[in-house]
Amino acid sequence: MTTENVKTRFAPSPTGYLHLGNVRTALFNALLARHGQGRFLLRIEDTDRERSRPEYTAALLEDLRWLGLDWEEGPEVTGTHGPYAQSERTAIYADYYQRLEDADCVYPCFCTPAELALSRKAQLAAGRPPRYAGACSRLSEAERQARFARGLPATLRFRVPTGRTVAFTDLIRGLQQMASDDIGDFVIRRADGSPQFFFANAVDDALMAVSYVLRGEDHLTNTPRQLLLLEALELPAPRYGHLSLIVGSDGGPLSKRESALSLRELRTVGYWPEALLNYLARLGHSYERDVWMTPTELAAGFNLERLGRAPARYDEAQLLHWQSEAVQHASQERLWDWMGPATHEWVPAEYQEAFVATVRPNVRFPADAAFWAERLFGAEMTVSADSRAVIEQAGSGFFGHALVAYAAHGTDYQGLIDELKRRTGLKGKALFMPLRAALTGETHGPELARILALLPPAVAGRRLQTAGC
Ligand code: GLU
Repeated sequence: MTTENVKTRFAPSPTGYLHLGNVRTALFNALLARHGQGRFLLRIEDTDRERSRPEYTAALLEDLRWLGLDWEEGPEVTGTHGPYAQSERTAIYADYYQRLEDADCVYPCFCTPAELALSRKAQLAAGRPPRYAGACSRLSEAERQARFARGLPATLRFRVPTGRTVAFTDLIRGLQQMASDDIGDFVIRRADGSPQFFFANAVDDALMAVSYVLRGEDHLTNTPRQLLLLEALELPAPRYGHLSLIVGSDGGPLSKRESALSLRELRTVGYWPEALLNYLARLGHSYERDVWMTPTELAAGFNLERLGRAPARYDEAQLLHWQSEAVQHASQERLWDWMGPATHEWVPAEYQEAFVATVRPNVRFPADAAFWAERLFGAEMTVSADSRAVIEQAGSGFFGHALVAYAAHGTDYQGLIDELKRRTGLKGKALFMPLRAALTGETHGPELARILALLPPAVAGRRLQTAGC
């Protein structure tokens, strides 16, 4: 790929919150731009007046920024190709409708939804693919004027040239071809005057000088229409790449639970942006090395040739893996902040740093940190059933020795263990597990030496004592 003039874009419709699927599209476009030292543009496709909502736009900008997918051109940043919301580009579109009218490439269509549905049904019944049958394309000027005079609402349809093959080389899927005769004349302006997707999207890519478009495979059949439109307008076309869709863990469509994962929800449970980036950048794209990468490294290693054609399978275990990696890579301060009030309220200020270092390997979400904070610093300790059994098995004699060893060695873990070994004749699991169970109420968790160092002496002593009773 040449590194000149790479400009990519993300063009979401603000009809809901960002979810994993569209975030991945945004990410691939951002990575492609950054890889080529290019520009990443954000455009808000809010032509659907009913479903677009300003609060979704605001959420979208915030979510993209939270992920670190800042755009060089688009809303709230400078750029010379604005405005960047389609609802503010009406005058620009009017000009391009006019050009198409002047070139006789469009015509008004008065067909009602009911008439269109009927025609569709008839074509399907006859075993033909449904497409616009062309009723209004044959109206004379006088007939058109008469309908306008009666106040009939009209859409504007693009007249698809006949007998052509529309071909383009998809960046991911290679050569794609479609016979223009298989494309019915399509609407580019709705009866309410708002632009249809095909039109606004293609015109804006051209006017905003977008050179690469990575978008979902569901748009693959739209591309020939858009290429015809751009050709009629004598506007340049970007290079398109259609990303394979994300499927659920069972290979079927993403389940409700999986697809319901909006970025906001993931953020609320404590996912790190870096975890999502590392996961999504590998969902349908492969890197040479499967190691944790910074956003800069993700961009450096991004390669169009490594985008897969097969459906990308959502795998929660992978996402969790990158989440753990994110926790391991986070700075002490960020980790502490992220742990939040449920942890902060338990951990005394002087133990903060030691606490973070102790639980870091065992924490994936703030709730895990809160669990350990309460376990280590809470007055009352819950003891799991497993731990109870281990404690009982060890017996009061064991804890008697443990108390003596603790009194003698305190937080000197090795000293304590050596002494306990000597006194009980035990080693390995039989030695460590009762200690862990008594001190934390769990049979798994952070390193015992660190826990011992972290527990206030009075608390550790009391717990050993309680276990011995
Ligand atoms: N607004 C369109 C969507 O969200 C954009 C499609 C495209 O990327 O071209 O599906």
